[in-house]
Amino acid sequence: MEVEKPFDYIERIPGGAIITTTVDKVLEWGRECSLWYFSFGLACCAIEVLMAAGAARFDLDRFGMMFRATPRQSDLMIVAGTVTKKMAPRVKRLYDQMAEPKYVIATGSCANAGGPFADSYAVLKGVDLIIPVDVYVPGCPPRPEALIFAVQKLKEKMRNQVRMKRSNLPEDTRCDA
Ligand code: SF4
Repeated sequence: MEVEKPFDYIERIPGGAIITTTVDKVLEWGRECSLWYFSFGLACCAIEVLMAAGAARFDLDRFGMMFRATPRQSDLMIVAGTVTKKMAPRVKRLYDQMAEPKYVIATGSCANAGGPFADSYAVLKGVDLIIPVDVYVPGCPPRPEALIFAVQKLKEKMRNQVRMKRSNLPEDTRCDA
């Protein structure tokens, strides 16, 4: 997977280095490498995937990802588990409280489409009916590695969004033109 460097040019000099870059690039790099996640554990997936992915063996922290207990400090919502219709308005409210830009990963069949409870009168058939989802992780439950892969895919998406935004700018205002 291609890793975009947060600088355009680096020259090593005795005792240090000179780096040229843009503020945009540094901010984007910082955002991508410090995804603080608001975990939304609603059922078994929360233990099977989310807790396991954050624990020692898989260790999400090594990607600069830290768990936050408040939506106001989070960039990423990881929805793990069955979203009931009773819980749905709370999920939406907490999503609305997150600052832009914000991202969502839906983990497991329940969050994706209702899972084994899709026929239940009480279960939402996918969290994307109330909030936009960036990456879906299939499985019941998915492996923690699948969540880590989803995080890499999200970073790829974030990078592409930034590139598209840059390429839509008029030529004479682009720093990379
Ligand atoms: S997808 Fe499976 S493991 Fe995950 S919350 Fe639903 S029933 Fe539980």
